[in-house]
Amino acid sequence: MLDAFPQIIEPLYGNNWISIGDSSVAFDPISGEGVGNALRGCILATAVLKGIASGMAPDRCLQYYDLRLRRALLQHVTQCISFYSSAFASEKWKEEIGLGAREKHDMDLLLPEKLDFRLQGTNLAEVKQ
Ligand SMILES: Cc1cc2nc3c(=O)[nH]c(=O)nc-3n(C[C@H](O)[C@H](O)[C@H](O)COP(=O)(O)OP(=O)(O)OC[C@H]3O[C@@H](n4cnc5c(N)ncnc54)[C@H](O)[C@@H]3O)c2cc1C
Repeated sequence: MLDAFPQIIEPLYGNNWISIGDSSVAFDPISGEGVGNALRGCILATAVLKGIASGMAPDRCLQYYDLRLRRALLQHVTQCISFYSSAFASEKWKEEIGLGAREKHDMDLLLPEKLDFRLQGTNLAEVKQ
């Protein structure tokens, strides 16, 4: 049996590697969002690698990647809580929804409102703060 809850893999990158698709962030398998998320992650990873290759600071680019994936997970978990709350009322589901809500609360606290970059096509563009 494999865990099927939405999750992020730690760490998301290391020395000369970056994790993409389900191996970085896996969404709820019945949400129908896994392929789209994997493709968006690939585009983002491409932009990050191109940014690093063009001389942008690797730490900042990779941190941006990390934060964008966490934001995507946060959005996804928020949708899951809303969907499952309206669809299921059993005690088991209430427990699962409670776990999701705690996870969402923790992620909300950790994620900054503003990010250093934005995605422009398949490139990173610096955001003036
Ligand atoms: C039952 C089920 C239903 C789903 N339904 C949907 C849906 O309706 N809509 C949706 O958007 N998403 C759905 N998903 C999720 C979606 O399939 C995944 O999010 C998506 O395929 C992730 O893409 P990926 O490229 O990251 O990983 P994968 O598609 O898993 O591709 C990884 C590939 O790497 C290969 N691989 C693994 N290890 C190695 C290795 N060591 N060397 C070489 N190759 C390796 C694997 O064989 C695999 O081909 C579903 C998932 C499941 C399990």
